[in-house]
Amino acid sequence: MLFVQKYGGTSLADAERIRKAARRAAGLARQGNQVVVVVSAQGDTTDLLIEKAAQVNRRGAAREMDAYLAAGEQMAAGLMAMAIGAMGYPAVSLTGWQAGIDTDGVHGNARILNVDTGRIRRELEAGKVVVVAGFQGRDPEGDITTLGRGGSDTTAVALAGFLHADKCQIFTDVDGVYDRDPRLYPDAVRFGRISYEAMLKLIENGAQVLHDRSVELARQFGIGVEVLSAFTGEPGTLVGDSE
Ligand code: ASP
Ligand code: MG
Repeated sequence: MLFVQKYGGTSLADAERIRKAARRAAGLARQGNQVVVVVSAQGDTTDLLIEKAAQVNRRGAAREMDAYLAAGEQMAAGLMAMAIGAMGYPAVSLTGWQAGIDTDGVHGNARILNVDTGRIRRELEAGKVVVVAGFQGRDPEGDITTLGRGGSDTTAVALAGFLHADKCQIFTDVDGVYDRDPRLYPDAVRFGRISYEAMLKLIENGAQVLHDRSVELARQFGIGVEVLSAFTGEPGTLVGDSE
């Protein structure tokens, strides 16, 4: 089976968490699966980078902000590939542009137009776990773009769609999708399954568990997206319409 697994910033916040994710990916690969891991920047790296940028220019050009912010995910990808390597499994990290992710030219909020999957396929065929930096791509000029805050989810769904993956899993710091924010409402109810439409409604009402474009893209591809806890790995919520 071909898996695309995405890990959010909290799930990668320190070396121990990175190792935990790496162990899960390497374990799947060792069982004979092909595995693509999409990473966000570690912890609150992106917020810190935005603050730092503001110290030199409060209104830095969007193109340069993208060049700067994309580095957070690039670093996380390198670390993840090294962590998987330390477990004795070959892995390779790719930036969004190395992974063939083509976007429009809207810096700071780019839309994925296409994924040229050749490189990823070659690395998978060579027996490697492929770690892709989320949240980024290249525009028609060849410039670095970013996909908007939370955009790594969209990277994962786009890769799952263009690679025809069997599973798209979003590992996060909550154990699924709830009807209300479980951090504020202890009696919030978790969905075992939720339709694209209902998920988009929740996002519209402020839910931050998934990037809105990732759900729109999943609906276009007709692929189910599993949202589950990076800490427990227990089944969470499946986003998608039943056949
Ligand atoms: N690191 C980026 C952000 O914080 C993208 C992501 O996490 O998906 O918005
Ligand atoms: Mg982030």
